[in-house]
Amino acid sequence: MTALLEVEDLSVAYGAIEAVRNISFTVDEGQIVCLIGANGAGKTTTLRTISGLLRPRAGDIRFRGQSITALPAHSILSGGIAHSPEGRRVFARMTVEENLLLGAYTRTDQAGIAADIRRVCELFPVLGERRNQKAGLFSGGEQQMLAIGRAMMSRPRLLMLDEPSMGLSPIMTQLIFDTIRELQQQETTILLVEQNALAALALADHAYVVDLGQTTLSGPGHDLLADERVRAAYLGQG
Ligand code: ATP
Repeated sequence: MTALLEVEDLSVAYGAIEAVRNISFTVDEGQIVCLIGANGAGKTTTLRTISGLLRPRAGDIRFRGQSITALPAHSILSGGIAHSPEGRRVFARMTVEENLLLGAYTRTDQAGIAADIRRVCELFPVLGERRNQKAGLFSGGEQQMLAIGRAMMSRPRLLMLDEPSMGLSPIMTQLIFDTIRELQQQETTILLVEQNALAALALADHAYVVDLGQTTLSGPGHDLLADERVRAAYLGQG
């Protein structure tokens, strides 16, 4: 398998606070890779640094074999990495369609953009039915679907999802996780950050446990699900 994304010895700080310390991991083409870990472990910071929203203090990020560490965020997006941020962050006063179009702002192929809007609406029918409604009227789960749909609109090779199940009911969470699996089948590689370790590990081809800014354990999702240390620390089963 070829590595799509390689993160090597990445360190990121907010002033004196070292949020990420020498983190290294790999995302292979076609896989769902998950980062799990406690609150404040550095997962969101890692995704924001990959997106070019934060600059690392040290380390390298390679995408398709090329370093992207110094690239601006818009080049990283147009190069094939999309990011659905924590807390949804849809544009509440814009319609579903306007939100989706914003996700395609680096593209100029109008026919392709229209086809991808149709694809998002097939994946999430509620978005198609309420295409002209303002996003602020939507429920948390519906806004999450829109945030994922918007990230898909750049037609990414790598889709990064930060806590897509946050605040959602079990049924809605299941729907989001089923969709992540479907996206993988449509040849999108996924890097997932999740608090819901049980669901995420069941889905992940490979997972890394992040603790205090470092990866402490890694392996296939099912292996980590069975690991006693993971069960005690993250699944509340000791
Ligand atoms: P969670 O699961 O709670 O979202 P996380 O693993 O995503 O946590 P981060 O949000 O990356 O963790 O935070 C890592 C560390 O960096 C924490 O100690 C946090 O308090 C700190 N931190 C995050 N954002 C900032 C910021 N803008 N300024 C200062 N410190 C920050």
